[in-house]
Amino acid sequence: MKGLYIHIPFCEYICHYCDFVKSVPKNKDTVDLYLKALVQEIKSYQKHFDSIETIYIGGGTPSMLNLEQLTFILESLQSIHPIEFTIEVNPESYTKEKGLLFKKFGINRISLGVQTFNQKLLKYLNRKHTNDQVFQIINHLKEIGIPQISIDLIYAIPGQTIENLHEDLAIIKALDINHVSCYSLILEERTFFYYQYLKGQFEQMNEDSEAEMYGLVMDELINQGFEHYEISNFAKNQNYSYHNLIYWTLGTYIGVGLGAHGFVDNYRTYNHRSMQKYLVSPQKEKELQDSMTLLQDELIFGLRKISGISVSEIKEKYQVDLFSKYPQLYEKIDLGLLKLEGDRLMLTRNGLFLGNQVFMVFI
Ligand code: SF4
Repeated sequence: MKGLYIHIPFCEYICHYCDFVKSVPKNKDTVDLYLKALVQEIKSYQKHFDSIETIYIGGGTPSMLNLEQLTFILESLQSIHPIEFTIEVNPESYTKEKGLLFKKFGINRISLGVQTFNQKLLKYLNRKHTNDQVFQIINHLKEIGIPQISIDLIYAIPGQTIENLHEDLAIIKALDINHVSCYSLILEERTFFYYQYLKGQFEQMNEDSEAEMYGLVMDELINQGFEHYEISNFAKNQNYSYHNLIYWTLGTYIGVGLGAHGFVDNYRTYNHRSMQKYLVSPQKEKELQDSMTLLQDELIFGLRKISGISVSEIKEKYQVDLFSKYPQLYEKIDLGLLKLEGDRLMLTRNGLFLGNQVFMVFI
C-alpha cells in the first residue's frame, strides 16, 4: 500500500504534553501562505496519485482550518481515490458544516482528539473541549455516514486514578465507535510539562500504576469487542488504521507539510521544521536506507503489531537468520517479553508494556 501524510502545523492553543511540530498562527495570512506552499508540495507528487491508497491529514489541528481553507486542500486531493481517508479533528473546532465538507470530499475516517472524558484532567492537559461536544460530534458523524470513528485516549496522566480510567473506558463503550488509539502520557522535552518537571512541579506516574492502567485498557477494550492489533491501537470488525499499518509494515508513504517525513523507494525524506525554510523549499534532506537500517525498522515496527513478524519472511527478505544475528532474543523469550508461535515472533502481554527493552536488541 502507499500512503500520503499531510501535516497541518497549527493549533488554537498548545497542550501541556505536546511536542509535535505545531504553533498558534499569528493570523489568517500565515495559514493561507502555508496552505499555498503545502498544495504546491502535494502537486509535486502527482505521479504517485494513482497508486495512493490512504490519505491522513494530521497535525497540529487540521479541523481548526476554516471551510475555505479546508476546501482549498481537499480540492487539491480530488484526483486521488484512496480506500481510507482520515482527518484529525479536535472537538472544539468541529462544526456540522465541516463534517459535511469532509463527507463531500470522501473522508471516511475521523480521528477525534479526546484524550480523556474527565474534565479536571482535560484542564490539566490544557485541552478546551467538553464531553457534550464529543458526544454531539460522534452523533453527527454517524448521522452523515462517516463509517470509521477513532478516538485518541491518554492514560497515566499525573493525578489520574484507575477509577477515572474505568470511567473513560465505560464512556467509550457507550459511544459505540470502531477504533481507539490509547497512549500513556510521555514526558517530552520542550513541553510545558517538561519545564514543570525541571522545576520539580511535575511527577510522572510510577511504572507499576502505568502498567496496571495499560492492563486495564487492554482487558476492557478487548471485552468490549475490540481487537488489540498494535501496542497502542484497538479496532472493531477489522476497522484498522490502514495508513498506520503502512508505517508498521515499512510500506511506502509520502509525507508533505512542515516537519513531515516520508519513505519512498527506500529513501527516508525529511521536511524542514522551520516555516521560513519550508516556504522556500519543503524538503530538508533524503537519505537512502541501507539494508541493515531497513531490517532494524522492519523488526521494531513489525513487533509493534500484536501479530508480530514472520521469521521466515525476514530471512527471505534480508538473508538474515534472526536468532543467529540477535542471540539476545533468546534472553527476551526467557524473560517472558517475547514468544515464538510457529513462525511468528511477537511480544507477550508483558512485552507489550516493556517493548523498548526488546527493541534495544536491534539498535
Ligand atoms: S496535542 Fe494536538 S491540539 Fe494539542 S498542541 Fe499538540 S497538536 Fe495541538
